[in-house]
Amino acid sequence: MGTEAALAEIAAEVRVCTRCPLHRGRTNAVPGEGNPLSDVLLVGEGPGAREDATGRPFVGPAGQLLVELLRSIGWSREDVFIANVVKCRPPGNRDPEEEEIHACGAYLDRQEHALEPAVIVTLGRHSLRRYLPDVRISAVHGQLRRAGGRFVFPMYHPAAALHQTSLRETLFADVRGLPAALLAARQALEAERMAVIEVMAAEPEPVLVAAGDDTEQLTLF
Ligand code: URA
Ligand code: SF4
Repeated sequence: MGTEAALAEIAAEVRVCTRCPLHRGRTNAVPGEGNPLSDVLLVGEGPGAREDATGRPFVGPAGQLLVELLRSIGWSREDVFIANVVKCRPPGNRDPEEEEIHACGAYLDRQEHALEPAVIVTLGRHSLRRYLPDVRISAVHGQLRRAGGRFVFPMYHPAAALHQTSLRETLFADVRGLPAALLAARQALEAERMAVIEVMAAEPEPVLVAAGDDTEQLTLF
C-alpha cells in the first residue's frame, strides 16, 4: 500500500475509534494531516477546542504560532505532516493520561511507519516523552537526537509560548536549526542505507553444507 492510502486508512479508523475513554467527549477525532511525501513529522500533544470542532490539527492559536514558526524558515504546513499523540480532545484541555497515550500510540506508530520520516519534531513534553522518556525538554530542545531508529528534534509546545512569552524567542531560535537538523538526519540515514547495501552486495562467502552423513560429500551453494 502507498503512503497516502495507508495514511487515509489510519485516519478512517481514528475517526470511529473507541479504544480509549477520550472518544466519549469528542466532536471530531483529529487523525493528522499534511504532505504524505514529507519526511518531516510534527507530533503535538492532542486536539484543543478548535481542532475538536474542525477535525484538523493545530488550527487554533497554537496552530497560528506553529505556522509562523514554519514560515520563519520558509516552510508551510503543507510541507510537513502534523499529528498528535492522542487524536481526541482531552476534556477541558487536560493533559492526556498515560493509558490514553498508550491506547492511541498504535495509530502514531502506523503513521510513522507509513511516512518513514527522517525527522520527528516533538512539540511539548508529552510528545517528547514518547521518544525520549528520560530527558528533560529544557536540556534537549532545539537539538537533533537519536531515539532508536528515529531522529527526533524536540521543541517546546507552541501553546506554552502563548502563556510564557520568553518561550517565543526560544521557539523561533530552535526552529532555525531545523533545516540543518533535517539535512544531517537525511545524510545519516542515507549513509546507513548505503552501508547495508554494501554489506548485501559484498561477495558472499561460500557456504559448505554437509549432504547427509557423508562428510566427504560437500555441496557448495
Ligand atoms: N495542540 C496540540 O498539541 N495539538 C493540536 O493539534 C493543537 C493544539
Ligand atoms: Fe481512539 Fe486515540 Fe481517540 Fe482514544 S484518543 S478514542 S485511542 S483515536
